[in-house]
Amino acid sequence: MTTAWYLRQAGCEVTVLERHATAAEETSFANAGQVSPGYAAPWAAPGVPLKALKWLATPHAPLHIQPDGSGFQLRWIAAMLANCVPEAYARNKGRMVALAEYSRDQLRTLRTSVDLHYQERSLGTLQLLRTEAQMAAARRDAAILADLGVPHEVLDMDELETVEPALEPVAHKLVGGLRLPNDETGDCHLFTRRLEQLAREAGVEFRYLVEVTRLGKRNGRIDFVELDDGEALHPDVVVLACGSFSRHLALPLGLSLPVYPVKGYSLTIPLTNPDAAPRSTVLDETYKVALTRFDDRLRVGGMAELMGYDHSLDPRRVETLKMVASDLFPLAGDVEAGKPWSGLRPMTPDGTPLVCGTGIGNLYLNTGHGTLGWTMACGSAKVLTDLILGRAPEVDASGLALTRYGRRAQNADHVTDEAAVA
Ligand SMILES: Cc1cc2nc3c(=O)[nH]c(=O)nc-3n(C[C@H](O)[C@H](O)[C@H](O)COP(=O)(O)OP(=O)(O)OC[C@H]3O[C@@H](n4cnc5c(N)ncnc54)[C@H](O)[C@@H]3O)c2cc1C
Repeated sequence: MTTAWYLRQAGCEVTVLERHATAAEETSFANAGQVSPGYAAPWAAPGVPLKALKWLATPHAPLHIQPDGSGFQLRWIAAMLANCVPEAYARNKGRMVALAEYSRDQLRTLRTSVDLHYQERSLGTLQLLRTEAQMAAARRDAAILADLGVPHEVLDMDELETVEPALEPVAHKLVGGLRLPNDETGDCHLFTRRLEQLAREAGVEFRYLVEVTRLGKRNGRIDFVELDDGEALHPDVVVLACGSFSRHLALPLGLSLPVYPVKGYSLTIPLTNPDAAPRSTVLDETYKVALTRFDDRLRVGGMAELMGYDHSLDPRRVETLKMVASDLFPLAGDVEAGKPWSGLRPMTPDGTPLVCGTGIGNLYLNTGHGTLGWTMACGSAKVLTDLILGRAPEVDASGLALTRYGRRAQNADHVTDEAAVA
């Protein structure tokens, strides 16, 4: 949606092709609601392989892996593990923070230029630490944030309660927090739907209930876009922004996008006692669960399952979200009335999205944003618009290109069997 918006603002004629009846019905439907450049970091981090092994045997663990029978899953996990070294982590985090900070600033500019509301709040986000070991790790993170110039505050218990008064009854379970005052929150679904209205008024054409079945290549360019009713479109430029499903359309073109569907869960709880709820987002570091305050709801999101393109709701994961909500804000809302949901994060092994051109002249990518797709949405779309129009992006886009995955990703004759399945 942001790609359509920024391209239209730059004067392009834009048509959005979407297989659902309306916008934001997939991963952008019920995410955790954070616009959080301060927490922009790859999941592939030093220490994660060891933690992952422990999590596999821990109840309420944030990670679950189930073989999906594909070589792609194994290659993706191997590539992710290869990124769990300090140099790769620092490089990837640097790229993500730069794009995410730029993106938050673009979002703020957008909000001042149009009437765009989505139960947004600009009260920062707060990581809750339950152990001294977590507190020590947060101090190390704070040092990295200082290097990157991201404002932050390490809080003791008194300060924590000043920021989030509803934590007072559970203060004995916590040791402190790390606060990112410039982070924002809101409902990504409301944002996307409202931006759709604005984009439509600005002249973007929306075609819903059409599935793109194939991109046809000729003479090194996309010649046609085939729809499920057999119609073929002939656009000048194609932007592939299909979230976790982008890979399926790219494979037959010889492009192996390293974008794996990492399933996450959320639970949206109606508030019965708003004073007992957080004012903004709090993140429980122990369970890697985020709790975000909307006007009259609490959105609880987290978990990571690697098990292919599967949307099923595992009751054990939903139970974890309920447990964390009840543990931190026991009086805030009706947990049992919460609406569970799952979405597939389009994740790259290095956590950094693909915002770039390809070896195919008129084909561009805006996908692979993983855990932080909303946080990076406005910035990615602005960068891509600049690339398409031959302008220099305002942030360094060289690290967002598919070329960082080498020849294997760009000339994927070896994956034609997978392409046939897709
Ligand atoms: C539990 C959870 C919590 C999260 N929390 C946050 C958060 O707090 N902050 C944050 O920034 N990010 C968060 N994320 C990540 C964020 O939601 C995603 O990165 C983002 O929604 C991805 O957006 P997208 O537009 O790339 O993909 P999507 O929203 O999935 O959109 C892709 C669209 O392409 C369409 N499509 C696919 N294939 C075709 C086809 N062949 N033809 C036509 N249409 C097609 C789909 O129908 C879909 O509408 C979270 C994700 C999850 C799962």
